[in-house]
Amino acid sequence: MTDCIFCKIIAGEIPSSQVYRDEQATAFRDINPAAPTHILIVPNKHLDSVNQMEAADEPLIGHLFSIAKSLAAEAGLTESGYRLIVNTGAGAGQTVFHLHLHLLGGKSMNHLLG
Ligand code: AMP
Repeated sequence: MTDCIFCKIIAGEIPSSQVYRDEQATAFRDINPAAPTHILIVPNKHLDSVNQMEAADEPLIGHLFSIAKSLAAEAGLTESGYRLIVNTGAGAGQTVFHLHLHLLGGKSMNHLLG
């Protein structure tokens, strides 16, 4: 998608603080972090949101979680805990319409949603 900011990051057309990359996915630090660790894990192929995923994407989406687990471990969050968020749709707070998994940790978080 030519007008997708995360596609441009994946393509290296705009800079990011990249922390992980493989054939299927890329992870980079959120430009406006909400916690000491705030990483976005995105599929390299464009999907607007979870709404656009198909059954064939299940391994890809699972892979994003595996990356999150590894990056959380690298950040020392395995024991202290971390939060994974996938906002889906504007009403849920999604602002960038390229599916992404937020990895948040390094501070105490309430059980609260919203
Ligand atoms: P969401 O609101 O769930 O769609 O999350 C989008 C996230 O992307 C926000 O937390 C933004 O701070 C982050 N973001 C937007 N532009 C960039 C960028 N160029 N580099 C890194 N993170 C970004």
